[in-house]
Amino acid sequence: MLSGAEPDIQTGDHCGAPFECPFKHYCSAQEPVSPDHPVEILHGNTARRLRADGYDDLLTVPAAAIPSASQRVIWRATRLNEVYYDADIQREIKTLAYPRYFLDFETVSSPVPLWAGIRPYQQVPFQWSCHTESQAGTLTHQEFLDVSGNSPVEEFARSLLSSLGRTGPILVYNASFEASRIRELAGLLPEHSAQLTALLDRIVDLLPLVRKYYYHPAMKGSFSIKAVVPTMCAELDYGALDGVADGGAAQRAWWDLADPACDDKGAGEIRAGLLRYCKSDTLAMVAVLRYLARGNPVRLDEFGHIESTASIVLTRHNTHTNMVPTASAECSPKDAHGPDEH
Ligand code: SF4
Repeated sequence: MLSGAEPDIQTGDHCGAPFECPFKHYCSAQEPVSPDHPVEILHGNTARRLRADGYDDLLTVPAAAIPSASQRVIWRATRLNEVYYDADIQREIKTLAYPRYFLDFETVSSPVPLWAGIRPYQQVPFQWSCHTESQAGTLTHQEFLDVSGNSPVEEFARSLLSSLGRTGPILVYNASFEASRIRELAGLLPEHSAQLTALLDRIVDLLPLVRKYYYHPAMKGSFSIKAVVPTMCAELDYGALDGVADGGAAQRAWWDLADPACDDKGAGEIRAGLLRYCKSDTLAMVAVLRYLARGNPVRLDEFGHIESTASIVLTRHNTHTNMVPTASAECSPKDAHGPDEH
């Protein structure tokens, strides 16, 4: 096989599943330059069918070739190079009570479980960030990070429960991830199970709202928060984050911190990167909801000063907290940690 000719096959979805193919760069370089708006913006079967029908540029595809209404929204916005925004979303957003919690988790997993009671490859949450809008325009921030190497589940759940209160919508982006982690925590921690399960009823997923009511041509077919938020708030650009800038990097950062060879200075920088990244994600959700509520761009200075009301960081050597007294004070404060403000 190695001595024969190379297979005549184009790059496509198969190059990234189940694993990223190491020849992707080589194969892409052999292919003609892709148009700015390839039909793959529409993804899946539609993109494959359009390719098979000889289309490569979405701008040349006629409306009749796109049967799905949601894909026609993307097609139209791309052709006209204009934003799609459906103001009907405003009615839905007005039904969201205060306080509104904007929540994000980071997790670590391992083929060989790191702690008792954990399955192979189970995503174990070790960090959360939460922006809380107590009333229109009034924001505070709380966060938790456990890179001590001990099982994070107990402190994670305890701190989370004390920060999320008993009422108010919990806004997440792509709810299945956070909801699954909360269910798993409820299974691991019978004493907190009822309270954790009660959180599930309060979850509001921003992703389907964005999918239904919004599209910007710069998203190029992606509804990931990293593609969406720069089109709503130009200052929230994940490309500007150094160190930790996605969930994979957050997980690698956890492993770096678990390495005994990681010195204090390096560990401090990695922890700061983790805190900055998770906090950016929840601030991004605040910006997404604000944009959807009114249909025009958001500026960071609209948020004013965002006070940090609780920051719990568990490291291999210390517990760092900077918090107003809340029920999460089970983590004994030994040192002050000052999170970066956006
Ligand atoms: S990148 Fe890998 S999977 Fe994709 S066409 Fe090339 S060799 Fe095949």
